[in-house]
Amino acid sequence: MADVIRTVTTAAELRAVLDAERGDGRTVGFVPTMGALHDGHASLVRAAAAETGVVVLSIFVNPLQFAPTEDLAAYPRDAEGDIRIAEEAGAAVAFVPTETEMYPLGRDAVLTTVAVPDLAGRMEGASRPTHFAGVCTVVAKLFHLVGPCRAYFGEKDFQQLAVVRRMALDLSFPVEVVGCPTVREPHGLARSSRNRYLTDHERERAAVLHRSLQAGAAAVADGETSPERVCAVMRVLLDAEPVVRSVDYAACVDPTTLQVPASVTGPVRLLVAARVGKARLIDNLEAAPAR
Ligand code: AMP
Repeated sequence: MADVIRTVTTAAELRAVLDAERGDGRTVGFVPTMGALHDGHASLVRAAAAETGVVVLSIFVNPLQFAPTEDLAAYPRDAEGDIRIAEEAGAAVAFVPTETEMYPLGRDAVLTTVAVPDLAGRMEGASRPTHFAGVCTVVAKLFHLVGPCRAYFGEKDFQQLAVVRRMALDLSFPVEVVGCPTVREPHGLARSSRNRYLTDHERERAAVLHRSLQAGAAAVADGETSPERVCAVMRVLLDAEPVVRSVDYAACVDPTTLQVPASVTGPVRLLVAARVGKARLIDNLEAAPAR
């Protein structure tokens, strides 16, 4: 565990703190978040602390990645609790910038954005057309401000991980993007800041997302080669669960290109997005034919 976490709110102070750390020979690990931290975020910090000399966790609810109809204003915020969790997990620095620090001319005046169209267009991108440009733009800015050698992202947001990885490669960011496994609640629901929107009953029943992915993965393991039929297996379970208000997508894709394969002959990624109560939840799982 780091001694006492240092909270930094400006880019200038962040640079001064991290230049000193780098000067002392320490590598910088980075965990970008939107706060409302839970054990999923803490697992990223722990992975970063095991592999790098100084861990920076950022907390910034990025307005650019929310559509006007989404939950930007309602998004849970708990900076004090977050900083305690980050410190306990081993972060040395919490970067908590204001919106003005990140977007000095205002969020509506940002002219330069980063897009990764082929990877970002489907699934989350189809449901949330401006989402990934917002994510990539803020992650690119944070990479510049933090200058990490390794940055840690959760597989929970599998498409985001693929998009950020590709952005870093295409734009030659000198950073290794590290994917970390999804942390789940005991009954299988992926931990998410948005689970706070759910009632206890909805939270328990929302584990159907994970069960639907497991059913899809079992179908693939049993030899199902049609991506459409694998998706149909997942949908049957989701459609049968009353707390699921609607299903945005159930998808079976190549884990790197995120394209639907003509036939499932090797590892694939299964992904779902659904509305449960007041929340929109996503989850995913790897699947592969038995050999
Ligand atoms: P967020 O604060 O939701 O933007 O997430 C910040 C980072 O934490 C992202 O890289 C997420 O993929 C990751 N994350 C969120 N939930 C989980 C989870 N349940 N397990 C592992 N990583 C997660």
